[in-house]
Amino acid sequence: MKETIDCPKCGAEFEFETFPLMEYPEKILDLTAFRATCPSCGAELMLPYPCVYHNPARRVIIRFIPRGFDLSDLPAGAPVPLSGYSLRDVYSAHSFREKTLIFERGLDDRAIELLKILTIQQNPERFDVKDPDVLLLADADEEALSFFALAKDGNDFVLKTPSGLYDQMCAELTSPHFDESGDFETVDSQWVLDHFRLLES
Ligand SMILES: [Zn+2]
Repeated sequence: MKETIDCPKCGAEFEFETFPLMEYPEKILDLTAFRATCPSCGAELMLPYPCVYHNPARRVIIRFIPRGFDLSDLPAGAPVPLSGYSLRDVYSAHSFREKTLIFERGLDDRAIELLKILTIQQNPERFDVKDPDVLLLADADEEALSFFALAKDGNDFVLKTPSGLYDQMCAELTSPHFDESGDFETVDSQWVLDHFRLLES
């Protein structure tokens, strides 16, 4: 879909191609779906817009609702979820990228969120323990998961975690209590904390 954009830097109008029903994970993973260069002034712009990512093989639908938009701004003709689907809502381009990466790699986003919480709690000298959003999954292979990390001194770095730890997190989430609800959910650190709290009560 072509949209006309006003450059926020110089005001020039230009055409920008959007993908409201996103079929190509690569465009999310490298964020090119949301990047544009103004043809007049050369400004590099990030232009998030509401869109839906569907991967039938991974049985996942992710809805991206950027700040300033709501559910009514999502594209018509969105895929209908089948039973057993993971349904997720995200609100920033970086969370959209992270969720897409997690599901493309066949990982469990609840286990990733739990792993982030534990990593931060175990490193209070490096991280602000009250802010779990300082870790974002960057990549994953058989040996390790790497995270983009923001330390409390403002420095960012890449943090590697052995994938065995991820497997331990998965084992923590086997209670039916953590099953998919069948509704779209925001699965972040708060979701994990809330579900553990309910489990204990
Ligand atoms: Zn411009």
